[in-house]
Amino acid sequence: MTFGPELVEPVQPYQARNTYLCPGCEQRIESGTGHLVVVPEEDPDLRRHWHHGCWYKELRRRGVLPNVG
Ligand SMILES: [Zn+2]
Repeated sequence: MTFGPELVEPVQPYQARNTYLCPGCEQRIESGTGHLVVVPEEDPDLRRHWHHGCWYKELRRRGVLPNVG
């Protein structure tokens, strides 16, 4: 699935072998936790790992998703 200029890839719990820092909440994403990898299509080196909820909150902040829920 894509949202504008970023490619969003789900990471399954068994694929999450490291601990990452979520840029949305600045909390850790523990290994073994399903999350999302967001890759800017024009600069794949800037890929970031996000909690699901934090990414959707970010999309709403950007006005990409309607502000419901
Ligand atoms: Zn987060």
